[in-house]
Amino acid sequence: MRTVTVVGASLAGLYAARELRAQGFDGRLVIVGEERHRPYDRPPLSKDFLSGRADEEQLALCDAEEETDLAAQWLLATRAHGFDAGGRTLLLDNGRTLVTDGLVIATGASARRLPGTSGLAGVHTLRTLDDACALRDALSGAARRVVVIGGGFIGAETASSCVSLGHDVTVVEAAPLPLVPQLGPEMAGVCAALHRRGGAELITGTGVSRLLGRGAVTAVELTDDRVLPADLVVVGIGAVPNTGWLAGSALLLGDGVLCDDGCVTALPQVVAVGDVARVGGLRAEHWTSATEQPAVAVRNLLAGRTVDSARPLPYFWSDQYGSRIQFAGQRHEGDTVRVVEGSTDEGSFLCLYEHQGRTTAVLAVDRPKPFLRARRELARPATRPPDLGPGPAPPPPPVTAGH
Ligand SMILES: Cc1cc2nc3c(=O)[nH]c(=O)nc-3n(C[C@H](O)[C@H](O)[C@H](O)COP(=O)(O)OP(=O)(O)OC[C@H]3O[C@@H](n4cnc5c(N)ncnc54)[C@H](O)[C@@H]3O)c2cc1C
Repeated sequence: MRTVTVVGASLAGLYAARELRAQGFDGRLVIVGEERHRPYDRPPLSKDFLSGRADEEQLALCDAEEETDLAAQWLLATRAHGFDAGGRTLLLDNGRTLVTDGLVIATGASARRLPGTSGLAGVHTLRTLDDACALRDALSGAARRVVVIGGGFIGAETASSCVSLGHDVTVVEAAPLPLVPQLGPEMAGVCAALHRRGGAELITGTGVSRLLGRGAVTAVELTDDRVLPADLVVVGIGAVPNTGWLAGSALLLGDGVLCDDGCVTALPQVVAVGDVARVGGLRAEHWTSATEQPAVAVRNLLAGRTVDSARPLPYFWSDQYGSRIQFAGQRHEGDTVRVVEGSTDEGSFLCLYEHQGRTTAVLAVDRPKPFLRARRELARPATRPPDLGPGPAPPPPPVTAGH
């Protein structure tokens, strides 16, 4: 391969570029990114950056020295519009085309928007640095009434940061409890209690029917007819994989770019990594997956076929209201949950999810060291949950594990 192009200049794209060089690719490396920024870290956007404890410089994922070492051609503020596999050609937004032998798709995901709210001032989503800067500006100054729509991790972390800045915060969640898909009902209840303990109001089991306001939002109307006055609304209702630009290409799409266990797509010269990739049936929106998949994807890309598979144990963390939540593994419906250290009442604990006598996942709140031990134990081949163990496994149904 003489030219490899990475589309998506963020976490997974940067890790893929690093791997290409580390694994001996010495050809032309091009990195195409829609954002004008160099790769930066997203997790702090809803946490320390939003609450003012971190600045833009601290988000940078690579420095000038590493950039020199990568010897890549960066095409920032440039969107890829399509890929013609036959002609090995990428179509870029300014009419340019780029011929490439190999392609790494790392286009991540975009925040899902609430229909009918575009153009209404005071309504925010949080995915990019520009989003975070706009929200941080809106939150500076006097205390405001903030309504966060969606009680998932991004919603919860944003709510927590807004509370820490002195704002009056209400979180609205349509499901009876937030985070049930990720944590199961029992532990979702425990984590939901963090909102109330932390100083935010949590309204569950009620959807949003519309936002009120002319020009700027003034209130949120709920499906039970309640009206919540709001100066600012943050919509945190999940993310959508950025696959639109690949429509009409030879790649298989469906809640992400479909790949085998080795991140290889329907075309051997194209791999996908990070939030956009559905690897062996699972699309994870976790920082750790985006950093672990590239090594395997690049190995397979350079080999021209799948010689290795990416089956890391899913892992994510979340910081809310001064507590760190950590989760590893893959829980199943009907798992039993056993607290093995601390207690949910004291708000610091470690628990195991168990299915037919095997541990499937581990969750901790403010127990980092025991969690690390339990996570390592779970990742050992002998103790790995059966559907994550080595060897061929039937493809699981489509699942998205969102942060
Ligand atoms: C606010 C926030 C907090 C988070 N906190 C945590 C956390 O605490 N723990 C955790 O495990 N995970 C967390 N995550 C998730 C984690 O950040 C993501 O899993 C990770 O960023 C995925 O990296 P990625 O490179 O795959 O995608 P992204 O980071 O989404 O990057 C994709 C890049 O591709 C670009 N792009 C898209 N389409 C095109 C195109 N057509 N042409 C060119 N470029 C394109 C995008 O502009 C973007 O820069 C958080 C995410 C957010 C948004």
